[in-house]
Amino acid sequence: MSEGVDLSAVSIEFGSFKAVDNVSVDVRPGEFFSFLGPSGCGKTTILRMVSGFLSPSSGDIRIGGKSMKGIGPNRRPTALIFQNLALFPLMPVWENITFGLRVRGIGRSERRKRAEELLRVVDLPDAGDKAIGQLSGGQKQRIAIARALAVEPKVMLLDEPLSALDLKLRQHMRAELRAIQERTGVTFIYITHDQSEALAMSDRVAVMSRGKLQQVDTPQVIYNTPANGFVASFVGENTILNGAVDGEEGGFASFRTPDGRFKARPGPGVRNSGTTRLFVRPENVRLGSAENSLEATVTKVVFEGNLISVIGTTRNGVPIVAQFTNGAAGELPQIGSTARFSFDPERAQILVDDRPTGVRTEGF
Ligand code: ATP
Repeated sequence: MSEGVDLSAVSIEFGSFKAVDNVSVDVRPGEFFSFLGPSGCGKTTILRMVSGFLSPSSGDIRIGGKSMKGIGPNRRPTALIFQNLALFPLMPVWENITFGLRVRGIGRSERRKRAEELLRVVDLPDAGDKAIGQLSGGQKQRIAIARALAVEPKVMLLDEPLSALDLKLRQHMRAELRAIQERTGVTFIYITHDQSEALAMSDRVAVMSRGKLQQVDTPQVIYNTPANGFVASFVGENTILNGAVDGEEGGFASFRTPDGRFKARPGPGVRNSGTTRLFVRPENVRLGSAENSLEATVTKVVFEGNLISVIGTTRNGVPIVAQFTNGAAGELPQIGSTARFSFDPERAQILVDDRPTGVRTEGF
């Protein structure tokens, strides 16, 4: 039912610009795999190479172990889904779904049967005779997926398919897409710049920046142990302290900053790298004294219903954020008061960070 997709040292150049730079990744059969990164990082270009609309400048792409060199898009076992659906407005839903089968000469009654099966897969069992105009945005997206599944692809390639939908529907469709993928067992390769979408749906995520792979792992590993400053910042929020490693202590590194010295887990490559920064997620910062703590003036308390964020500024002007669930917040400090913010060494990381940013705390 599904095949793996193996990219081996794949690069592509447009003139002198390297849009994808030496990407190697092994997508397993039946996996829900996402490429995540900011606009222009090369995600769509990767998808176009897998589908056969572009050829790599170097490297190889294998699907089901077979090299795709010289094999055109319509001879690959892939189906591509875009944000813009291009359903045929004058055909009923069931004919839209089985259009590809009609092109292949399959008769009407068999097509109708297949359409009914696929409508069950996408959870719209009674929609076969509806007109496209009668469907909501999310329903149209499910019909587009059913249509792509009709030709029995081994690999589905999805390029930001939910980005035209409103937030509520997008969140609902995440679960739907994942369920459809599990029901069919087809390999899904999903492109998105939305980190929560990638984390919520995927078995594994590849984070990309400027054509290069930064990290490939499960959503949990990507979020909890990002490989570098780019990944930590792109996938979630952080308080970031500038400084330098000045020693080691029982598996932890000691990190010297203008606001004091802190213990934290050293990330990959920090011992022999130039710029390193300390990263700690807002949910891992507490109020009160502990092993790693610093003093800050409380500048803001943000109430978001389920979450409460207490934002402070250290003596050296670094913003620090402690976030609590509403039920666990306890007494909140007054704005303008001085508070101690602390974090567990186990939950703070020193990461290589070659981005040209100064001290900053994101998302607040
Ligand atoms: P977005 O989320 O905005 O679609 P992306 O990560 O999918 O971004 P790509 O569309 O893969 O990015 O493009 C990667 C880079 O390659 C961009 O800088 C883009 O301008 C460039 N690029 C893509 N296709 C071509 C082309 N045919 N000729 C020249 N440059 C191109």
